[in-house]
Amino acid sequence: MDRPATAPPSAETVSSESLAAVVREYWGYDSFRPCQREAMESVLTGRDSLVVLPTGGGKSLCFQAPALAMPGVAIVVSPLISLMKDQVDALRACGAPAAYINSTLTTQQRHKVTEQLRRGELKLLYAAPERILMERTLSFLKTIDVSFVAIDEAHCVSTWGHDFRPEYTELGALKDALPGIAIHAYTATAAERVQGDIIRGLRLRDTNLLIGSFDRPNLIFRVRRATRKLDQIMSVIRRHQGESGIVYCISRKEVESVAGALKELGVRAAPYHAGMGDVARERNQEGFLGDRIDVIVATVAFGMGIDKPNVRFVIHAGMPKSVEAYVQESGRAGRDGLEAECLLLYGGGDAMLWRRIIEEGEPNILEGALHSLDEIVQYANSVGCRHQSIVGYFGQDLGRDNCGACDVCLEELQLAADPLATAQKIISCVARLDQRFGAGHTAKVLAGSRDQNLLSRGHTNLSTHGLLSKERMTTIRDWIEQLVGQGYLQRVGEYHVLQITETGREVLRGNTTPHLLAPAQGASRSRTQAADSWEGVDKRLFDQLRELRTKLAAEKQVPAYIVFGDTALRDMARRRPSTLEGFTQVKGVGEVKLRDYGDLFLKAITSHCAEQKIPTDTEATGDRETRRGSPDGNTAFQRYDHGTDDTPSPSAPALAAFKHFREGRSIAETAEILSRAKSTVVGYLGAFLKHHEVIDPTPWVDEATTRRVEQAIEEAGGETLKPIYEQLGGEVSYEEIRIVATCVANRA
Ligand code: ADP
Ligand code: ZN
Repeated sequence: MDRPATAPPSAETVSSESLAAVVREYWGYDSFRPCQREAMESVLTGRDSLVVLPTGGGKSLCFQAPALAMPGVAIVVSPLISLMKDQVDALRACGAPAAYINSTLTTQQRHKVTEQLRRGELKLLYAAPERILMERTLSFLKTIDVSFVAIDEAHCVSTWGHDFRPEYTELGALKDALPGIAIHAYTATAAERVQGDIIRGLRLRDTNLLIGSFDRPNLIFRVRRATRKLDQIMSVIRRHQGESGIVYCISRKEVESVAGALKELGVRAAPYHAGMGDVARERNQEGFLGDRIDVIVATVAFGMGIDKPNVRFVIHAGMPKSVEAYVQESGRAGRDGLEAECLLLYGGGDAMLWRRIIEEGEPNILEGALHSLDEIVQYANSVGCRHQSIVGYFGQDLGRDNCGACDVCLEELQLAADPLATAQKIISCVARLDQRFGAGHTAKVLAGSRDQNLLSRGHTNLSTHGLLSKERMTTIRDWIEQLVGQGYLQRVGEYHVLQITETGREVLRGNTTPHLLAPAQGASRSRTQAADSWEGVDKRLFDQLRELRTKLAAEKQVPAYIVFGDTALRDMARRRPSTLEGFTQVKGVGEVKLRDYGDLFLKAITSHCAEQKIPTDTEATGDRETRRGSPDGNTAFQRYDHGTDDTPSPSAPALAAFKHFREGRSIAETAEILSRAKSTVVGYLGAFLKHHEVIDPTPWVDEATTRRVEQAIEEAGGETLKPIYEQLGGEVSYEEIRIVATCVANRA
């Protein structure tokens, strides 16, 4: 078949209303995200475009929806096989005819795709650049009806980007090879230099440049100095038990040690770094995508190609190397638009470590890389709104004073009482030490340490010795870092000794006052715009639906989110539809998913509601998508069920026991595995039942006894255990009564 005309279908043939219909039909979404409509219309009108949207901004839909609406097949250039596979799986699960061609296909499979293309049966074809540019592929493409070319991860064309791929630089040839076919490029990289490289490299013409806001209002940003790293990491994981998260470490060694420690604490964690064998690495990645592994502990090698939308937290266990890198890495949280948290933990040595890595690397990027490092150090030590700092870095403005979703705006961090006097003490101590010592030594002097190192040098006699003796050592170290971060002190030479800068001298003269943070007295409750995404959600039903999802995904051998995203599951657990009609109202349910999964999920919903005696078919009250760009920040953030700041978090050994309880192990079994006394394990079980609001005691107390105790509670009242014990004639132990009573209380 000869391709009739090269002119792409125009806006007259495909209206933008039909885009909305496509988005509704295939994805079950009823609105566009910022910039999506403009980006899609640029595709319809056949004008080359470059779309810059942050990770999770919804770039894929910008080309997928028009591809479905327009005649012909869209060619999507994608850098990684895993990325292609996931996107194609996701498209097919929505009923969209898509395929990829790459080296993983057998000759037979490849022929099948070619045939489908000849018959015009595909709407999207994914391939890597080198495949598209093969003479054979190009001449074949000329014989079929190509609607447009989309270049995903377009920053790979730029040597300035973080993912330069030489094959991408050849893509400029497409303009000659496929004349008259528009090219649309997509990236999350905001640097202007990279945008210029993309436009030039791909030879885009009259480019429609669409740049979205770089703010991600559903992400809560926090920065903390690493003090007890593992505890700090665990406290985030505890808030998200059973949910997905990423912990980034600077070195492979740290990846291994953190992953190991988390596993010991009962977390379903696995490592990922370039030093591991391909098989192990892939297994861990697949496990993470399939929700069999909750937490992946990784170096920055982990990331591109991970489109998992339900990552609920990203923790940096060490400083990233630049703000750009931080935005990319932390941006992998909350792609689905639901709230997610990003915690950056940094230590004094991190910047030094990076400096060493950078100095050993490529000499011609040295200066730029060191500058980028300074910027992230500054970010970590700033006391301004984190959302504003990030968009400011990309030359944008947040347009509001309080983001409602960072540690600064949430007032979790308090300012130090007298920053000028404190800073003067620190800076004069640096002066007394002749600017010849590092931060650790300086902090010890200020804290009044009588350490041998100080004594032998006579530093205990300095006038600044003990000036900050009332403060904790870590606080003093923090302040020094903050002064470095704000440019009042600097580190120089091989030993990174502290030196006073010109502005630092101004502090000594009292002409300028630095910002210093005091660690908060107990964190305040977060308030975010993502507040109501749990509103009205039956958490237990949600958990059941998640299990069903995991099961179905395992059967189909696809990542869990391809069945349904978290947004869809929460909406189901909120609306609790009992009919197929009600089910179509659920966000994220398109026609094909309704057909494929509707009955199964309806059954799970209705039987849960009948069992728990809760109503079905409720009107959804919560916002269906996190309100983007419409800040109010006043709604209370719901910490759902995972422990609030008021309830103490379970200890590490308790958590290890929790894992066994989750797997239904008895008290005796758990006690044996953990080599703990039975009475200790009984205590852990009590905490477990409360923490997870368990309502069914039968894994630990037999059915008949449970019924008897429930009856006795009803008769004797559940206030104290003794009357229940007596009611039962002393035939049931206190231990068993307590377990049943806790579960009964959880049902209230
Ligand atoms: P990006 O490629 O920009 O990082 P994706 O295309 O992976 O982002 O989209 C992130 C998530 O947002 C996906 O789960 C996607 O299905 C969802 N999404 C995209 N557009 C919309 C929309 N208009 N409404 C609701 N969800 C959307
Ligand atoms: Zn803020």
